[in-house]
Amino acid sequence: MIRIHILGSAAGGGLPQWNCACVNCVAARAGKIDLQTQSSIAIGAGSKEFQNPWLINASPDLLRQIESTTWLQPGRNASRNTPIAGALLTNADIDHALGLLLLRQQEKPLVVYATDETRTALAWLDRTLARFCGIEWRMVSPDFQQLTGDIGFRAIELPHSVAFQFLEEASGRLTLVAPAVGKFTHELSKAFADSDIILFDGTFWSDHELAAVRAGARSSREMNHLPINDGSFDFLRQSPARRKIYTHINNTNPILMPGSPERTQLDQAGIEIARDGMEIVL
Ligand SMILES: [Zn+2]
Ligand SMILES: [Zn+2]
Repeated sequence: MIRIHILGSAAGGGLPQWNCACVNCVAARAGKIDLQTQSSIAIGAGSKEFQNPWLINASPDLLRQIESTTWLQPGRNASRNTPIAGALLTNADIDHALGLLLLRQQEKPLVVYATDETRTALAWLDRTLARFCGIEWRMVSPDFQQLTGDIGFRAIELPHSVAFQFLEEASGRLTLVAPAVGKFTHELSKAFADSDIILFDGTFWSDHELAAVRAGARSSREMNHLPINDGSFDFLRQSPARRKIYTHINNTNPILMPGSPERTQLDQAGIEIARDGMEIVL
């Protein structure tokens, strides 16, 4: 059995973002919508207990996420320990990698799966952590390799990022985790067709969303995030997956506001949005 736990569902900055006064950030500060931490997912085997959970991306909110998630905390059988087996990185974005720096007190090297491109971009992190626990880099592969127990995983290469597909060997069922997608590729569409659960990049609703709060901001596509509208929505709507969930949602995205036309459009298409603490069992 594969268990997926959303540690953080927000894109870089979180909800609210410290310097943002957009409608959603104001609503979050007023307690009208729930705060969300930055994007990270834990995945592991087990029906009730998580066994050897892996992190998919490690956000700057990781310490807070560990303290609010009992099964990511150290066991009481030894003074220093962690159940966290390591991390898988989709790319080298700060909001996906900074959490690794916060794990520097780890006793053994941190095990991190990434592409060469990501590893090169994170040379600074590699150098900094070398003075602490260090990183044991492992290569991702387009073919399935064992992650833990009977869970296999593979990387689907995208422009400047990867998506991960997880296989539960006993049942043959597949889960797709794709929080950073700049372009819809042929490989990705194949994974859309055979995955039971899809967690997908929901950073922005529209391509020019950020320019409305910050003059001159890059477009969603320029930031390597396919927007939902005129982007990923139709792919998700038409996918046969049992559950389709947007995650890595930027604080400016109108889907965060219950009752908004954009949220209603997702509701009607049977597409969910991730929340911190959400758990999905395959
Ligand atoms: Zn991100
Ligand atoms: Zn905001």
